[in-house]
Amino acid sequence: MTASTHELSPDPDRAQRSPMRSARDVAPLRQMADRDRDKGTPCDLLRLQRMAGNKAVTAVLSVQRSPEDDRKAEDGLRAAQRRVYRLLEPETVWDRVRTGAGAASIPNDNAARDPDRLFANSVEWIRKGWSSLCVVAPVPGAPKETLFFDGTVTYPRVGAQVSNTVVLPGDGAGYTDHEQRRIYLYMRPGKEPDDDQVRNLIVHEVQHVADVEPPMSEEDIRKEEAARAAEDTSARTDEEKREQARRDRIAWRSYQSEFRAYWLQSLQRPPQMKGGKWLDWGPYGEFGSDLASGHDVKVVDTLGVVKGRRGCLPEITVRFSNEKQARIADHLLNHVSVFGAVFLCSQGFRDQVVSLTAPQGVNLVNSIRIENLRRALTPNTSPWNGRVYVNEGAVVDWTKALDDTDFAFLKDPSASRPFWDQAKAALRQELYDWMFNYIKQGKTNVPPPVASPEAPSR
Ligand SMILES: [Zn+2]
Repeated sequence: MTASTHELSPDPDRAQRSPMRSARDVAPLRQMADRDRDKGTPCDLLRLQRMAGNKAVTAVLSVQRSPEDDRKAEDGLRAAQRRVYRLLEPETVWDRVRTGAGAASIPNDNAARDPDRLFANSVEWIRKGWSSLCVVAPVPGAPKETLFFDGTVTYPRVGAQVSNTVVLPGDGAGYTDHEQRRIYLYMRPGKEPDDDQVRNLIVHEVQHVADVEPPMSEEDIRKEEAARAAEDTSARTDEEKREQARRDRIAWRSYQSEFRAYWLQSLQRPPQMKGGKWLDWGPYGEFGSDLASGHDVKVVDTLGVVKGRRGCLPEITVRFSNEKQARIADHLLNHVSVFGAVFLCSQGFRDQVVSLTAPQGVNLVNSIRIENLRRALTPNTSPWNGRVYVNEGAVVDWTKALDDTDFAFLKDPSASRPFWDQAKAALRQELYDWMFNYIKQGKTNVPPPVASPEAPSR
């Protein structure tokens, strides 16, 4: 429902249920959006959702349960934890891919599109402790599913006590807490995700952690919003235009984050080589193919969220250029009321959403090697003399540690543009050139430029 929770797939039951549920949620969400509007992180929508969720806690706590209900729920959660952990354990996909023991090979140029490699990287991310994984279930008898347990047990531990509760956004199949780098997977009795869905969810949620955008300064935020408000040609007042610009900015960052995560969780397997023969493209993910042509998507204000707001449309139909883009957009705009509302009220946001035909990000392969490199590219301040510097040795080391999947992603100029923008801003020209040639031209025998103590730093 929010920037980091999501449904596994469009589900007809859900579509019918959602107007009732969402109608209750929208008003508090909007009030909180107003209150929170000066903060610019992509987590804004998450925070809003979580705050909305807290409102339901009082009701939940008054529910009477029997000790047998609790025991049954605890047993169920422990079984679910074991099942999820088995997917992450050695001698599964992770080791098969790492050791090259898979049955078929994918040419390197397509490595970044291989769902097995994406899952293997995501598993490595969790197994090496870069994110904690917490498999939770709803507290039995909760009227609204925002109260979960056991918030204290993380992979690889098995354990469950109903009394160890944690409040999480109730919608969706999982949730990622960016600040804590913790991933929650929801196991609702009778509606537990199957193994493939768990794999997709893990890829989705790890992407939310791997997807680190440089923070924007207050000044940049003000500039961006002022520019956007100036472009607003609707009949709004200046104050309304500024308010819409704030909503646009928050929604756009969150939308891109969800778009990346949904895209990666539903990759289509590229052609493989097996026994000297080319196999065909694998089956599409749940959102179809990015190679197929797009279609019209109708976004309707069924809940009346934007009714009476100046500059907003009751509905609009927009054409998207590829199938996968269109189906993810349909899902986000028609199931996440915040996205739908901004879409109906802002030409600028509509233009951005339509122009997002494929994801771009710093780490679209959930790789801990790229994460290490990204961190090395982040400037430090010396505790000795206050000088701002980049650890060039670490940049060189982590560049040399990249694997085929990382190369495939970083060679794609469009998908990896945010990464290269960051590298360009952080590095002196000689080192940037070395890294660029090493990764993009395969010049792995060229030694890196020697760092001089006098080298100007930024
Ligand atoms: Zn998400």
